[in-house]
Amino acid sequence: CDALSAALPEQVFWPNSSQYLNQSQNVWSQTCVLEPLCVFEPSSVSALSQGLKLIRDAKSQFAFRAGGHMPVPGAQSLDDGVMISASLFNTNNLSADGSIASIGPGQTWMDVYQWLAPYGKAINGGRFPSVGVGGLLVGGGMGYFSGSQGWAVDNIVGWQVVLWNGTVIEVTNDVQDPHADLAWALKGGSNLFGLVTRFDVRTFPVTSAFGGLTVWSSEAGPDVLGSLTNYMAPGGGVDDPNVHIDVFSGISFANGTPALSYYNIALYPGSKAGPTALENFTAIPADMTLSNGVDVHQSWTAIPEQLDSFSTRALRNLFYAISFEATEESISLYNKTVIDNAVSMLSNVDGLATYAVYQPVSKQYLQASKAKGGNVLGLDPDVDGTFIAGIILSMWEKAEDDAAVLKFSQTTAQQVREKTEALGLYNQFIYLGDSAQGQLPFGSYANGKNLPKLKAIRGRYDPEGFLENYLHRGF
Ligand SMILES: Cc1cc2nc3c(=O)[nH]c(=O)nc-3n(C[C@H](O)[C@H](O)[C@H](O)COP(=O)(O)OP(=O)(O)OC[C@H]3O[C@@H](n4cnc5c(N)ncnc54)[C@H](O)[C@@H]3O)c2cc1C
Repeated sequence: CDALSAALPEQVFWPNSSQYLNQSQNVWSQTCVLEPLCVFEPSSVSALSQGLKLIRDAKSQFAFRAGGHMPVPGAQSLDDGVMISASLFNTNNLSADGSIASIGPGQTWMDVYQWLAPYGKAINGGRFPSVGVGGLLVGGGMGYFSGSQGWAVDNIVGWQVVLWNGTVIEVTNDVQDPHADLAWALKGGSNLFGLVTRFDVRTFPVTSAFGGLTVWSSEAGPDVLGSLTNYMAPGGGVDDPNVHIDVFSGISFANGTPALSYYNIALYPGSKAGPTALENFTAIPADMTLSNGVDVHQSWTAIPEQLDSFSTRALRNLFYAISFEATEESISLYNKTVIDNAVSMLSNVDGLATYAVYQPVSKQYLQASKAKGGNVLGLDPDVDGTFIAGIILSMWEKAEDDAAVLKFSQTTAQQVREKTEALGLYNQFIYLGDSAQGQLPFGSYANGKNLPKLKAIRGRYDPEGFLENYLHRGF
């Protein structure tokens, strides 16, 4: 920090300064608030390059944060080292023909959506408005438009990257590119290969959309799960590449008494109310006070905006990924296992809310991904088909409950795994963006087959192991 501060004094912030507190404390999960020695907020790519060289010379540990959303302690911050913030890499540029958006990693997805909306364009990115561009675009990216566009990373055609030794390179998706190996690795390889300061991403046209957040009371649970079963079955809504749903059940405790609700975040481009692909869900009577945003919206961005009501950075958070093929039985046992275990293991946890999240990944989604060249995540439409990428998601208040929530998540995931394995429905895919510390997403990609390739590429782009040994990460 001293060397950085001497060389780039305006860009280094010490404990108790407002910039330091903003960067180190304004992360999605309170479990991720650590105490870096200083925060380095480079104002240009050359400053980042210069700073990285100084960090290397000093053999200092460091972390790199963009939106700060990854709820894994140590993913974007650290004690006793330098936190580099990407917050000033926040510029956008649209190509003359409108087909490519060049975006900085240090902004939120809502920033990008609102910038592109007046052009009648979008990028497939995060569904939550405050998720960061950087982490999602190096991690995978499940978005509202994944059914037609694939993973967010499948749509990247260029990167500007600061390598381990401070060298700045431009990488393209062209198979002839001298860094074609790095281009592949950056599509899901997280921060193992370098710090990305710009992403060039394909846009597509979209203006209006039907959808929003629906909330149902516990009595609607069987209908919601039944609709999800029908939706996921061959010929169900999931086969329509334009549709998006994200269904979850949630349990919280009021004075120890469980309260259950069901939710769906739906989106269908266009201006038709109640499109066919969603009709199983729109037919279920909902809590109209909480679901009054479900409508045709002139701008589709009104749908992610509705999720702002869930956006609190005051709580502790744990995501635990689990995947399985969707049938009536697996959908139901996942819900029951999460709820039963929350009741028996977490009812005394202050401020607790636990969710069983169902994120459909369709064959069309994976075909769109494959058609664009594929990525590190290694899913195959013909092998993985249509399945649920689940998240056992908990939010709570106090650090003293961290261990109990982790134990609950591990136990529940293990039980869901065993039960779905017994039915031949388990999928070993673990999405990095939804994983907890201790899970092994890279080991799950393509059944572990992508790991040696990733390691070989890392050897080429981090030959002295500087990023491997000094840059903190969740995984
Ligand atoms: C509430 C919530 C909603 C979410 N919704 C979605 C969703 O809809 N779809 C989805 O796919 N995922 C979603 N996620 C997961 C999310 O994609 C990941 O947590 C992602 O890492 C967040 O990016 P960030 O920039 O905010 O995170 P950060 O915590 O800042 O970064 C995460 C990791 O990425 C690395 N990184 C960030 N930027 C760069 C860069 N430019 N170059 C190299 N490495 C970098 C960091 O070093 C860090 O290790 C969600 C997470 C939460 C908590």
